[in-house]
Amino acid sequence: MTERSRGVLYVVATPIGNLEDLSPRAQRTLAEVELIAAEDTRHTAVLLNHFRIRTPMAALHDYNEMQRTPTLVTKLLAGDSLALVSDAGTPLISDPGFNLVRAARAAGIRVIPIPGACALIAALSVSGLPTDRFVFEGFLPPKTAARCLRLGQLQSETRTLVFYEAVHRLTESLSDMLQVFGGERRAVIARELTKLHESVHQDTLAALLAWADSDSHAQKGEVVVLIAGLAAKNTAMETDKILTVLLEELPVKQAAALAAKLTGGKRNAIYQRALEICKLPNI
Ligand code: SAM
Repeated sequence: MTERSRGVLYVVATPIGNLEDLSPRAQRTLAEVELIAAEDTRHTAVLLNHFRIRTPMAALHDYNEMQRTPTLVTKLLAGDSLALVSDAGTPLISDPGFNLVRAARAAGIRVIPIPGACALIAALSVSGLPTDRFVFEGFLPPKTAARCLRLGQLQSETRTLVFYEAVHRLTESLSDMLQVFGGERRAVIARELTKLHESVHQDTLAALLAWADSDSHAQKGEVVVLIAGLAAKNTAMETDKILTVLLEELPVKQAAALAAKLTGGKRNAIYQRALEICKLPNI
């Protein structure tokens, strides 16, 4: 079968609040495909009605994606083009669609993105935190113990951290973040982006927690939480502290190897730093 006779799977981003964010290309694609695979067909029906799009829909959500994927791939192979949408923003970004995209690509189907809104990118772009390197962590685990464990693994991360969070867990999560990263770490809460009550607050974690605790608006709507990465200066200080302790007990090579494991830093650079520390008068 030639690629021409197969259909195309379009991965279409939809608005995260403001309907004007659905691009003309996305509108045309949704109107022209044979079928739209939607996370929640009732939710997407509101969007389609607004744009007078009458394309049939099939539900594709976390609970039926595995089972429904083969049928959709068969349709694509038979020549039908499909659009994949989620309730809001870019499909697959903390949303369903991964199995379908993977299976379509494995079957030699062309998969074309129709880019648009994505809450994490929108939040990052207005956060005022460094955007050159960042880590998207999606949703944190809902239970405190697992959440703290995950946050602990990110303690020395120097890139900007981006999280999605359910608003009813916002204060719990902020309080765990404060425990792990310290109250002085800068953070941002981006709320209700592109909607009427949009707000972006940047402050220390301690101040943001106090604000979220006291302001009833803070606990409504949808939020993205961003945390500044550990400053390079702090990382160097942390490494020095760890090395100093280890050098009291271990030879330089072993101390450097262990410090590299603990901090995630480069072994060679840490070894050189260990040699420098050894030359300091109090070691
Ligand atoms: N696929 C979507 C995207 O591209 O952003 C994300 C879907 S995820 C299930 C939903 C989460 O995204 C929310 O809990 C919230 O953290 C974030 N989110 C979605 N819309 C938002 C908005 N308008 N303002 C702030 N955060 C939003």
